[in-house]
Amino acid sequence: MNELDSEVMMGILEKRGLKQIQDEKEADLLIFNTCSIRDLAERKVMGKLGQLGRSAKMRERVIGVTGCMANAKKETLLRKLPHIDFVLGTNNIHDLDCVLNEIQESRQQSVRTEDQFSQELDYTVAKRLDKYKAYVSIIRGCDKYCTYCVVPYTRGKEVSRGLDSIVDECRQLVNKGYKEITLLGQNVNSYGKDQPEWQVRFCDLLYQLDKIAGLGRVRFLTSHPVDITKELMQAIGTLDSLCEHVHFPLQAGSSRILKKMHRIYTKEQYFEKVAMLREYAPNVTLGTDMIVGFPTETEEEFMETYRAMEEIEYGNAFLYTYSPRQNTPAKRWLDDVPHEVKQDRHKRLLALHNRIAGKLMQQMLGTKVEVLVERRSKDQKYLKGVTRCWRNVIFEGPDHLIGTLVTIELHSYSHHTLIGKVAV
Ligand code: SAH
Ligand code: SF4
Repeated sequence: MNELDSEVMMGILEKRGLKQIQDEKEADLLIFNTCSIRDLAERKVMGKLGQLGRSAKMRERVIGVTGCMANAKKETLLRKLPHIDFVLGTNNIHDLDCVLNEIQESRQQSVRTEDQFSQELDYTVAKRLDKYKAYVSIIRGCDKYCTYCVVPYTRGKEVSRGLDSIVDECRQLVNKGYKEITLLGQNVNSYGKDQPEWQVRFCDLLYQLDKIAGLGRVRFLTSHPVDITKELMQAIGTLDSLCEHVHFPLQAGSSRILKKMHRIYTKEQYFEKVAMLREYAPNVTLGTDMIVGFPTETEEEFMETYRAMEEIEYGNAFLYTYSPRQNTPAKRWLDDVPHEVKQDRHKRLLALHNRIAGKLMQQMLGTKVEVLVERRSKDQKYLKGVTRCWRNVIFEGPDHLIGTLVTIELHSYSHHTLIGKVAV
């Protein structure tokens, strides 16, 4: 979501005649589009901003902080870092142009951090970094209030985007040569629920997009297990454009911890859903997010997470150690799992995940897969692309394959990358 927001901001800045450059020392304007999901991300930005403030030359530049930290910290940022010129929240990106005009006129500091997303963004201005894959926002905010998570406080409540506007944008992207679209939201499968009078749900959108000629692939990120319905499973099993890969974030394998996280499903309910999805879509691969070291998590409860990973065999997994976040209910609880224990659990889970990922890649050898070819590898030797099941693939081939969907026969793998050759 932050990447897409950055692309929209870059589009707005280009319209003003600004150009993106690599060397920060040469820049007239610096924008930090921030993330608050974990403490480390925030600390890195605070460190960098503090460092800029110590250089007289850099203090002359226009410096802005946008994204989740802007909403989480608001005016506090200006108090701590008085050399910052503006603070613009996740729901105020459309104000960027106007804020820069104000700064040019008066050099007055500006803070705009509305709690709620209320003005639809013009995504057509986005300066997309990728030529064949695009993110398309369909819903912003989150109503789930998991007890560890800062997102509902930094992005506000769920606001769905109009169906026609989404379909139009996807059509335009396909006309420009995009082959793969990832529908974005904190919880995409809540789509439409905040607008009951529209009478549209996430699946309706998927069926509409499937009708767009030339749209080879549709993905979505992220989905909450509770909202993965039978209809969605059927869509995954039947729609040609919809990739057979579902991010199905478990977070923890123990029902007691899940309850404390307010994930609103038990381990058993989650496992039932996975079994059902695999019935409707037998080729499906799964991804997950997991948090280890949540307050009061015991070794035995961690082992439930470990065994869930072993049993479900996720193709990819984002593993986190718990980090207390401001405003969240869990922040009020004792963060009682020692740092070293969290690190150790994380290490064990990651080792298991790597083993499973290797096993799944091994099973793919000898098969043919569809690859969206994106670019050349750094050493120019290979073409690089991605499968429908979200795995990177490299193979030798000519440049004209870039931007197309090609069938590749897999023969080996290294780390997390599959290696193959163009199928004849
Ligand atoms: N909406 C998505 C997740 C967005 S945040 C979903 O519900 O799946 C991405 C991931 O960051 C979460 O899934 C969670 O695993 C992790 N995360 C969020 N808050 C965290 C915290 N306080 N400590 C550690 N990990 C956290
Ligand atoms: Fe955060 Fe939970 Fe919402 Fe995901 S569903 S963004 S983890 S509150």
